Amino acid sequence: MAACCSWKTIPISSSSARGLLHRSSSSPSASHFVSNPTMSGGLPSAKPPASSRFSVHRLTNFRLPVELASMQSLMPLRSVTASPLFTSLLSFHNNSWGCLSKAMPEEKEILNADFNSKMLLKGLSYTELEKWVQAQGYRPGQALMLWKRLYGDNIWAHTGDELEGLNKDFKKMLIENAEFRALSLREILPSCDGTRKILFNLEDGLIIETVVIPCDRGRTTVCVSSQVGCAMNCQFCYTGRMGLKRHLTAAEIVEQAVFARRLLTSEVGLITNVVFMGMGEPLHNIDNVIKAVNIMVHEQGLHFSPRKVTVSTSGLVPQLKRFLNECNCALAVSLNATTDEVRNWIMPINRKYKLGLLLQTLREELRCKHKYKVLFEYVMLAGVNDSIEDAKRIVDLVQGIPCKINLISFNPHCGSQFRPTCKEKMIGFRNVLAEAGLTVFLRLSRGDDQMAACGQLGKPGIVQAPLLRVPDRFQMAMKLCL
Ligand code: SF4
Repeated sequence: MAACCSWKTIPISSSSARGLLHRSSSSPSASHFVSNPTMSGGLPSAKPPASSRFSVHRLTNFRLPVELASMQSLMPLRSVTASPLFTSLLSFHNNSWGCLSKAMPEEKEILNADFNSKMLLKGLSYTELEKWVQAQGYRPGQALMLWKRLYGDNIWAHTGDELEGLNKDFKKMLIENAEFRALSLREILPSCDGTRKILFNLEDGLIIETVVIPCDRGRTTVCVSSQVGCAMNCQFCYTGRMGLKRHLTAAEIVEQAVFARRLLTSEVGLITNVVFMGMGEPLHNIDNVIKAVNIMVHEQGLHFSPRKVTVSTSGLVPQLKRFLNECNCALAVSLNATTDEVRNWIMPINRKYKLGLLLQTLREELRCKHKYKVLFEYVMLAGVNDSIEDAKRIVDLVQGIPCKINLISFNPHCGSQFRPTCKEKMIGFRNVLAEAGLTVFLRLSRGDDQMAACGQLGKPGIVQAPLLRVPDRFQMAMKLCL
């Protein structure tokens, strides 16, 4: 942990957030590595949110079974050091899943009831917003004016009072029938390196984290979360310890970028880049992520360049294919190992989608994409994946895949069993890749004094995802970490 300066917590009430934040100082950062597996072939779908409150409530009910089922499918019990509590909860899940499914008809009534209440605007695509505005008896042009006030023109409206310049009746209708915000600001934690971690409360009481990372070269990145927790259980990731609580709605994802611009633009300048590397595996929540991305790149709104929006995945192959076919934003793949043996251990999604399949899929899918490079992320773990042999294997593995490679320094967290690779060794590793003609970058830690760095987001509760058995030949390296 880099504790080069003291830090402070700035509690901010949601209503007064804007003004207070403009007076606050400091900054943080983070980047994240893995993404997720779409659950078409095994993991249960934590079917998320249409952008309505109903969805949030319903998912809350499903929270525990979804989390446990996700863990169970990724981790056969025989390979897991499951606690008795965890085992009994799994048993609860297995026995009760059918009962929960039967609850659906009643929920439909709730859905209808909720749709009669306020419309959450940030969950609507531009086309949907236009239709909704017309259904209320107003012109499509008024939808565009509203869209610009929500996302563009440096307004980022959070209340009806901020809708300057709109027709009086239209504004009145919006105040009566629309909800502008999906998140409430909880606090901002500034890191000594300029990174800022922002905590948001969700309507159901859960908390998510977003990180804003200013960079010297005039680029500022917001790192957004796509889920509360994560089902992937990557062994080096603090978020993974939480298990999956639920998917975020498109509104909750988009609002993180809106909030970041609203709160911090005056301090850090324009936020130009978005990375989906916060909490969660974005492609496990692909419907909402694609919808959110489309809102973020809309040219009359937030207008992020598609090249500057990067969605990360741990290697969910079917979803990865869908993403490459439906979306022109950038893709990052968390590689993190050069053999199935190591990847099966540190990224259990590899048991479902093997390294060879993942890389062959990329090779084939990128053939028809013009000037498109995938970003491979490689978190360096001392004694596990950082040998010169690993570097040479990477050179072979990525043959025929247009790519760039980020070597990321591991960020330790409470209870982590890994150590970071030392800087000299990272440089040696980088040199092997560079000499083979690959484009490679070293990414050192940002924001780790605030637990805002890669793999450090979230807060695991009492029931945590299990640690997997360490393969025999790494036992010694792991003992050195203790
Ligand atoms: S466990 Fe962590 S690193 Fe792995 S996909 Fe989830 S958030 Fe990303």
